[in-house]
Amino acid sequence: MEKRIVGNWKMNGLSTSLREARAVADGLRGASARVALCPPSTLVERMARALAGTEVQVGGQDCRAEESGAFTGDVSAEMLADAGAVLVILGHSERRAGFGETDDLVSAKVGAALRAGLQPIVCVGETLAERESGRALDVVTAQVRGSLPASLDGKDFLLAYEPVWAIGTGLTPTLEQIAEVHAAIRAELVVRQGPSGARVPILYGGSVKPGNAAEILSTPEVGGALVGGASLKAADFLGIIAGA
Ligand code: PEP
Repeated sequence: MEKRIVGNWKMNGLSTSLREARAVADGLRGASARVALCPPSTLVERMARALAGTEVQVGGQDCRAEESGAFTGDVSAEMLADAGAVLVILGHSERRAGFGETDDLVSAKVGAALRAGLQPIVCVGETLAERESGRALDVVTAQVRGSLPASLDGKDFLLAYEPVWAIGTGLTPTLEQIAEVHAAIRAELVVRQGPSGARVPILYGGSVKPGNAAEILSTPEVGGALVGGASLKAADFLGIIAGA
């Protein structure tokens, strides 16, 4: 199956950064992966315009569960879709940890994304303490169960396994550890959704770089990569895409 490579720019990027997005689109020729970039919400509309007609999709990094209302500073799924996004990252660990997002809230946001016609990328992952205490699989499968609303069954969505301790640290799990967690997520998806759960792409995220992308992407049940820091420079991101 075609690998999915998604770049998460986090709170990085000004209008001048759109040239990096354009360079990704220009450098994609012949790539076998499906590629998306998720800039900060200030750039979603401009990036969608800049990449119109190319193969690169544009996504948001979070959304509010409500459609509109008195929620100063927040952005709804409908607003992202209106700006040209087709995907949205939800439940990223930086939001779970920094903004107290629970599985219930992530699940409500996933419902909002579906309502707006966006494809959710639902993030799960254990902390270092959880891994060291032997609870990684329990934590991750509980997050999968809690973060996916019943309305998602049969719909198109992506899961991303992102061990918190691997994000932005340069550390990565062993390929065996990645395979073990991806297999547990797959089993949970199949129990939950039947045959359609077998087709949900499960991305790996956490310190993916051009130098480790190919081996991570060829690990069993790894359907792609969610890339933070290395998605900010077109050359690095294209190096990762080349590994797909
Ligand atoms: C991320 O935050 O989604 C991520 C994977 O970051 P990095 O690639 O920088 O570790």
